[in-house]
Amino acid sequence: MPLTVVDHPLTRHYLTILRDVRTQPERFRETTRRLAYTLLMEATADMPVDAVDINTPLQPTTGHAVRSDIVAIAVLRAGLGLLEAVVDLLPDVKVGYAGVQRDEATAMPHEYYTKLPDLASCSVLILEPMLATGGSLSWAVDRAKERGANDITALCVVAAPDGVTRLEGDHPDVHVVTAGYDSRLNDQFYIVPGLGDMGDRLFGTL
Ligand code: URA
Repeated sequence: MPLTVVDHPLTRHYLTILRDVRTQPERFRETTRRLAYTLLMEATADMPVDAVDINTPLQPTTGHAVRSDIVAIAVLRAGLGLLEAVVDLLPDVKVGYAGVQRDEATAMPHEYYTKLPDLASCSVLILEPMLATGGSLSWAVDRAKERGANDITALCVVAAPDGVTRLEGDHPDVHVVTAGYDSRLNDQFYIVPGLGDMGDRLFGTL
């Protein structure tokens, strides 16, 4: 499975702010959005473009346009933190939602809401910030493939070895782009050092 850990200085800078326990929700949200731009640039680096003929004020020339068959799937609720940057850079993107909650005792994914468009022949970006056990992301990829997706990239903020191993086994074709690759999970399946509960930190529900 292709795993890309983005090591751009801005990515590392923003990730450090997110990890810092002192960062309050408003700054956490805006920093997540800024970090998402840097992840998205990497995730779309090989995106196909169409040649388009245009005129500059001086002469005709040929430029490039991204295709409109891109779908982002926000895994609720933490994936919402990455969505604003995605719809900003890709204004024609279609957006699906995958509502999955982790059972705190077993860390197994529990589905409560899913709304996805047809995904055949689309480039799909799954927004799943914390790749911990990999259960939620693997589940979201299953749902996307059921809808016809075969070109899937996952945008993560922090990944752990367990999650990467799980995804490698379940979906070796999925490209994972992450800002951080941490050492382990703790007994409650949180990533260590991590940044805590991403949803709680985004939405102030600590
Ligand atoms: N989900 C989170 O929000 N944080 C973790 O560390 C693991 C899963």
